[in-house]
Amino acid sequence: MAVIPASCKCHLLPLLQPPQRLPSPPHVWPRPAVTAPTSRRFARLTAAAISTMSPEDASLKKGIAELYDQSSGLWEDIWGDHMHHGFYEPDSAASDADHRFAQIRMIEESLRFAGVSEEGEKRPKRVVDVGCGIGGSSRYLAKKYGASCQGITLSPLQAQRAQTLAASQGLADKVSFQVADALDQPFPDGQFDLVWSMESGEHMPDKKKFVSELARVVAPGGTIILVTWCHRDLSPSEESLKPEEKALLDKICSAYYLPDWCSTTDYVKLLESLSLQDIKAADWSEYVAPFWPAVIRSALTFKGFISLLRSGWKTIRGALVMPLMIRGYKMGLIKFAIITCRKPE
Ligand code: SAH
Repeated sequence: MAVIPASCKCHLLPLLQPPQRLPSPPHVWPRPAVTAPTSRRFARLTAAAISTMSPEDASLKKGIAELYDQSSGLWEDIWGDHMHHGFYEPDSAASDADHRFAQIRMIEESLRFAGVSEEGEKRPKRVVDVGCGIGGSSRYLAKKYGASCQGITLSPLQAQRAQTLAASQGLADKVSFQVADALDQPFPDGQFDLVWSMESGEHMPDKKKFVSELARVVAPGGTIILVTWCHRDLSPSEESLKPEEKALLDKICSAYYLPDWCSTTDYVKLLESLSLQDIKAADWSEYVAPFWPAVIRSALTFKGFISLLRSGWKTIRGALVMPLMIRGYKMGLIKFAIITCRKPE
């Protein structure tokens, strides 16, 4: 296990090279006719996904589904396929950055950090995208590796949109999306050689169950990539965060439908307890710093502002909390973490 502190750049050296335009992989899949699942069917699946939970978890999941149902269209309009932070050069000004490129770079840097192979037989062939949003990562990974990808989300609207976008890009035979719970995944054991969770872990009310599900569905020798929001590690003399830190996180939690947070070290311990190997973690907070200022600026444009007002209260409340994310990062309380590991052969 290696927890790589932010100050130790050795693992990140290759990442600090000037960003290069990523070659767009060929996408030559045939384009079969697609029957996009209906909203009613997705709604039934959501109801099924939340029916067996405690009232607290069920209401959290309903809130998450509604938040993303309401806000995904606005996000896609302004930011495109990816609902995750961008990866930027440290100290770069948000105003100069190419944000969509930075979001793709986040995917590439994550794959590189985890050591996912680009070579023929060793490339991932079967991928699960846990908390898939509108499927940006799934489509990217399907094109990059020629892999088949299955995405799960709590939002019926996201699953439907993800499927439509896949069909329009000729990927309908490679990627599929469904409404399902990451804590109870609809997959047999050992199915996937890459398990990808990009910024969904923060929504999970039971981190142990979440990590166990990731470990269950990954194939022997397969890789898990978990990129998620964490709170800072506690010092040996601390038992919990300070009251003012908890108060800040509470406000963020209620706007974004997040349960209690954990630290990167907590995740590493969970992975160790499941006997996963090559566990690596890093704090990428400094590489994502320009992201929230850019999101706030995009909400303040005329188009952003009008679309925000139209998207409903949950989205507006999320927007109002954005400055708190910046404050949390600046205080060193919020950490943007990557944690990767491999299941023994
Ligand atoms: N990974 C995507 C989207 C991140 S947004 C991207 O990078 O673009 C967070 C996603 O996590 C949403 O799609 C939300 O529906 C999903 N999510 C949150 N809790 C979940 C759960 N319990 N099960 C499945 N998906 C969940």
